[in-house]
Amino acid sequence: MNLAELTTCMEDMGEKKFRAKQVFEWLHVHKAASYDEMQNIPKSLKQKMMDQGTITILEKEDLQISREDGTRKYLFKLEDGNMVESVLMRYSFGNSVCISSQVGCRMGCRFCASTLDGLLRSLTPAEMLDQIYRIERDINERVNHVVVMGTGEPMDNYDNIVKFIRLLTDENGANLSQRNLTVSTCGIVPRIRQLAEEHLQITLAISLHAPNQAKRLELMPVANKYEIHEVIDACKYYFDTTGRRITFEYSLVGGVNDSEEDARELSSLIKVLPCHINLIPVNPIKERNYVESSHKVVLAFKEKLEKYGINVTIRREMGRDIDGACGQLRRRHMKGEL
Ligand code: SAH
Repeated sequence: MNLAELTTCMEDMGEKKFRAKQVFEWLHVHKAASYDEMQNIPKSLKQKMMDQGTITILEKEDLQISREDGTRKYLFKLEDGNMVESVLMRYSFGNSVCISSQVGCRMGCRFCASTLDGLLRSLTPAEMLDQIYRIERDINERVNHVVVMGTGEPMDNYDNIVKFIRLLTDENGANLSQRNLTVSTCGIVPRIRQLAEEHLQITLAISLHAPNQAKRLELMPVANKYEIHEVIDACKYYFDTTGRRITFEYSLVGGVNDSEEDARELSSLIKVLPCHINLIPVNPIKERNYVESSHKVVLAFKEKLEKYGINVTIRREMGRDIDGACGQLRRRHMKGEL
């Protein structure tokens, strides 16, 4: 519930309006894990709230900590027994958390482990928020950046994602700056346009992964539905409407999309709009035989893009030793390998 909904709820229960703000603070500022923690709330109200429903609290099922860089990968159990992954990355500029938006995924990207078993269900706004809140409580530090780049396609869970964004950035609650929030999509065109209309200040990331329609189709079935130029047009619309520069993600797959010709074609495709491109050497999963591009090839690709005037960074890889890539930890759990 947002604050307005919670206020109505309090009034319906015969309580004073200000109780809504108090409870909202317990949930979203202090990240309370139970009604018991809510010290300034009368027992009678706590009981009423308990009768109405429980607080969504995720259970820590597993935690892997990278010896290389301190990255922490959490496996959380939901109330219905399903599992989702979230990752905490520690950077010099602060703590960044990558959350999941669905249990599984139905987009079918060829290199991704999250989609191998399809979609089970979408997450509620509370389940997305609580991935961040439980991590904050676990490390006793604030999370300053959030990326929706875990398992799932956020634009396939549109209403819940927008509600989640508004709750996480509510000044009465967790108060994360919208500029510190990135939502990544494989390119669901009508939803990108709809998101532009929400006039949020978040960063939109697009998983592009190919310089043209034919190559994109080989890697991403979603390209059957939304052609690459339609995606670029929707990005232009997003920039024109919000003023926010687009981030493109490009996973380099050895021998598939990493040639100098690919770099040239990619630059002419995206230079029509203010953007930034993030190169990610593909993280090979054992179910597919894709290989990552060599470091030399990654550097050559980057230099080529720069020559064409594109703003480019190579994603720092973190947590390689702990199944850092989308869906790997959850999958190993499901298969009983852990
Ligand atoms: N469904 C959304 C968000 C989740 S995936 C999207 O497609 O953008 C987050 C990013 O990781 C996407 O760019 C995805 O294509 C990429 N990704 C998934 N598996 C990967 C792997 N094994 N190696 C490198 N990148 C991967």
